[in-house]
Amino acid sequence: MTALFLVLLIFSVLLLAYYRIPLLISIAILAGLTFAFTELRHFYEIPAWFRWSLGIATVSLAGFAIKPLRRLFISNRLFSVYRKVMPKLSSTEREALEAGTIWWDAELFSGKPRWRRLLRQPAPRLSEREQAFINGPVEELCLMLDDWEICEKFQDLPEPVWQFILENRFFSMIIPREHGGLEFSAQANSAVVMKIASRNVTAAVTVMVPNSLGPGELLMHYGTEEQKKYYLPRLASGEEIPCFALTSALAGSDAGAMPDTGIVCKDIFEGEEVLGLRISWDKRYITLAPVATLLGLAFHAYDPDGLLGDNTDLGISCALVPTGTPGVEIGNRHMPVGAVFMNGPTRGKDVFIPMDWVIGGQQCLGQGWRMLMQSLAAGRAISLPSLGVAGGKMASLLTGAYARIRTQFGVPIGSFGGIEEPLARIAGRTYRMDAARTLTLIALDQGEKPGVLSAINKYQLTEGNRQCIIDAMDVHGGKGIVLGPNNYLARAYQTLPISITVEGANILTRSMIIFGQGAIRAHPCLLKEMNAVSGIANSQARRNFDNALFTHIGFSLSNAVRSLLLGLTGGRMTPAPVTGPHAKYYRQLSRMSSAFAFMADSVLVLLGGRFKFKEKLSGRLADVLIHLYMGSAMLKRFEDNGRPAGDMALLQWGMEDSLYTIQQSLLGVIQNFPVPVLSRIVRLIVFPFGLPHTGPSDKTVKSVAQILLSENESRDRLTDGVFISDRDDATGRVNKAFHLVLEAQAAERAIRNALKQSVNFENYEGLVKRATESGVITEEQATMVRLAQKASALVIAVDDFPPGAGAQPLSPLVRAQPAVPEDTDKKTSVA
Ligand SMILES: Cc1cc2nc3c(=O)[nH]c(=O)nc-3n(C[C@H](O)[C@H](O)[C@H](O)COP(=O)(O)OP(=O)(O)OC[C@H]3O[C@@H](n4cnc5c(N)ncnc54)[C@H](O)[C@@H]3O)c2cc1C
Repeated sequence: MTALFLVLLIFSVLLLAYYRIPLLISIAILAGLTFAFTELRHFYEIPAWFRWSLGIATVSLAGFAIKPLRRLFISNRLFSVYRKVMPKLSSTEREALEAGTIWWDAELFSGKPRWRRLLRQPAPRLSEREQAFINGPVEELCLMLDDWEICEKFQDLPEPVWQFILENRFFSMIIPREHGGLEFSAQANSAVVMKIASRNVTAAVTVMVPNSLGPGELLMHYGTEEQKKYYLPRLASGEEIPCFALTSALAGSDAGAMPDTGIVCKDIFEGEEVLGLRISWDKRYITLAPVATLLGLAFHAYDPDGLLGDNTDLGISCALVPTGTPGVEIGNRHMPVGAVFMNGPTRGKDVFIPMDWVIGGQQCLGQGWRMLMQSLAAGRAISLPSLGVAGGKMASLLTGAYARIRTQFGVPIGSFGGIEEPLARIAGRTYRMDAARTLTLIALDQGEKPGVLSAINKYQLTEGNRQCIIDAMDVHGGKGIVLGPNNYLARAYQTLPISITVEGANILTRSMIIFGQGAIRAHPCLLKEMNAVSGIANSQARRNFDNALFTHIGFSLSNAVRSLLLGLTGGRMTPAPVTGPHAKYYRQLSRMSSAFAFMADSVLVLLGGRFKFKEKLSGRLADVLIHLYMGSAMLKRFEDNGRPAGDMALLQWGMEDSLYTIQQSLLGVIQNFPVPVLSRIVRLIVFPFGLPHTGPSDKTVKSVAQILLSENESRDRLTDGVFISDRDDATGRVNKAFHLVLEAQAAERAIRNALKQSVNFENYEGLVKRATESGVITEEQATMVRLAQKASALVIAVDDFPPGAGAQPLSPLVRAQPAVPEDTDKKTSVA
């Protein structure tokens, strides 16, 4: 009986915490239970200690509900401790934090994500006008792009391509229609960049830069009416080519430390003395700078002579400087690896600009960092993530096809277990990346500027692309390594470091930004506590602190309890918003979200302000948050697509891999817990029965690989939105050969079974003749086999060049002809 009552007591308290019952209701419930059991003692044997324990619990909770009492004994004392230990935010950090909004990240930080809210979000869609642009001008542009010619012959986009991009207003996707722009949704902007990137990175970067952080974006949000009226139509029509210069040699990741200055002064401009700034800068790595006509410039403004007031240090500011202005140095090129988009340095010394060239005018002097961070919070979720997903989709499409076309040891290499693994990784990662891309775009199209989620997307989708391309290279072997027009992978491989580095280098983004900003911004209480203790210590601040602190305590206790109970029940205690085999993933993510919230709180409380310098812990917690988000995105995608049975293996791979990563990252935090003696207790709370996740099973890996090795709807959905060539070019030949090989597989199998020899592009003619003559295959099947083998030979071919050709623009395909045996049927066309 004692044990029973003990369990009853513990569970009553745990359940109140698990369900986050508000304090006053919890007190009422406990008081009711105390009264009920006190009365029941007349009829049943109810131990006194049990009734007393319930009573004590009720009174203790009631004590917490009396605010003056708890302020006196608890929160006022902790107030000064918090003032010391809370991380101090620099002004640039605060502006970065306040720039963005929070969205699904807040649900993940809550430890109790409301799944129905996620599923209620609209499914991604494009308008007819947007779809028509993608089917029309984007398709046409892709057809104009020849990667080999662009990189080797022109080292630039050819003139007709530039003209086409400008005339069709590709640079104006974010500019409103009233100013002549295309005014596309974030979904459409991303779809355009993704499709172009699937054909050629140089063109994609060229198009995406004016549509992300730069003059257009800044003008729309902060420009004066005159600036908007003048520049936006010119930017939309391509009359102006913009670039944005933030980075300098001294200040890369730490862009806020830029040494470039603007000194407020008066000078003669167009014959009149006007107020303005004398700017000096030395910027590098600026995309489009060599061809730009309009330079967006970030600099630190000072007013040493007090021309504007008492404040001499005005802060980071942004201006628009026409590149024809005397003193502007522009035109030299950097050569980024693997791509030839325009990129270069720009310099200027004491260049005078009138005040109305400052974006937003004089009143926006010093507002530059906030402007940049706000624009980055949105733009970072579009361009580079779209480029990353394009890489994943192309890797899926082409690597699966190549693994089916290429045979070794008499069978397609895709049938080897060792090859199935990278194939599954490519497909699974692409599914996950695309899900995250579209989910974040849904938020953007609702007007959100989700700073943390955009950092997650930038980091994870560029990193995911890197992993996909590396796996694709391995599967292709030498075919991926030897450069030439026949190689459709190596450029993507070469350019990987670009997207990893720009718009927030990935190491910094993972180890500093994602969890660091997320913890403060998306946590339900932390920012409130920090705000309360950072200002003047008056009674209002103390009251605010008290409210935030006690909400935080309740939240932490609840997450510890949720973590333990969900661990003990394997997540079964929490409901899923759907039924079916994938419902378990909602439960597992809820469980991990509680564990994450509990661990994050524990680490933050134990480390206080020192947390900022614990990047390894922050990086691991970032991984957890990233995969909670990726998991959510995959579940949403699965629903939006109508739960297609064929995609189940992709969902399984993605979810199992994400859950495993979450588990291992939490384990890494536990093993390196700031107070080692507590790590065992924390482990017991988070993983009471050991580690539940093992990653994707071999069966799942095989099923996912099969999706890439045949033509099917799941493969189409996975790679939707990329450019699929049907031409006689490198990727067109793969698409064609893949189709022909699949068509011919029944005939080839029949030949192998009958003649005990596998067909390949060296021996097929003889085998086909014998098989036709002996009636093993029909004439029609013979043609299929011939076509498939010839097409395969073209795919497998690599390029070679005459000696000394390396330094020159190389001649087109020198020898990409299949080694066709003498007895080939010359009448069968490969075209
Ligand atoms: C091809 C290309 C195009 C570009 N286009 C533009 C453009 O149009 N406009 C523009 O203004 N800039 C542009 N950039 C600049 C780009 O944004 C910077 O390269 C980037 O911010 C990183 O700066 P950095 O290269 O100086 O590296 P660094 O800042 O020197 O960083 C080196 C490494 O240290 C890591 N690191 C730095 N700080 C931390 C930290 N606190 N914790 C952990 N790791 C850290 C970084 O993650 C990185 O891995 C471009 C760069 C390239 C290469």
